[in-house]
Amino acid sequence: MKATHIEHIGIAVKSLDEAIPYYEKVLGLKCYAIEEVEEQKVKTAFFKLGDTKIELLESTDPEGPIGKFIEKKGPGMHHLAFAVDNVDQALADAEENGVKLIDKKHRKGAEGLNIGFLHPKSTFGVLTELCGEE
Ligand code: ZN
Repeated sequence: MKATHIEHIGIAVKSLDEAIPYYEKVLGLKCYAIEEVEEQKVKTAFFKLGDTKIELLESTDPEGPIGKFIEKKGPGMHHLAFAVDNVDQALADAEENGVKLIDKKHRKGAEGLNIGFLHPKSTFGVLTELCGEE
C-alpha cells in the first residue's frame, strides 16, 4: 500500500447546523456538500482545504456508530482517512502486515468513494479509513 495524502479528517459533531458556522465563519472554509450516508446512520458535511477535506459527521440514530461514539466520548476527532489507489488491495496489504481490519472488503462511503476501516487497536489508537476511487 502507498497512501498518497490525507483524504479527509472525520469529526463527530452533535449538530451540523451548529458546527458548520464555525468552519465557515471562523476558519473561512465553505461547506460544499451535505450528504446522508444511510448505511452509516450519519449526515455528513464537507469542506475542502487543498487535497484534504474535513468531514463533519452528525448521527441520525443514537444506535449508529457516531451516535455511540458521541455518547461515550463526546464530540471530537473520530477518524483519519488516507487516500489509496485501490481500497481492497490496501486492506489486503494491511492485513498481510498484521493489522486487524474492521472491513475485509470495501464499502461505499460518502461522495461515491470506496472506503474500508482499520481497527484502532492495530493503528495506535487512531481509527483509520482507507479511501479511494477503486
Ligand atoms: Zn471518513
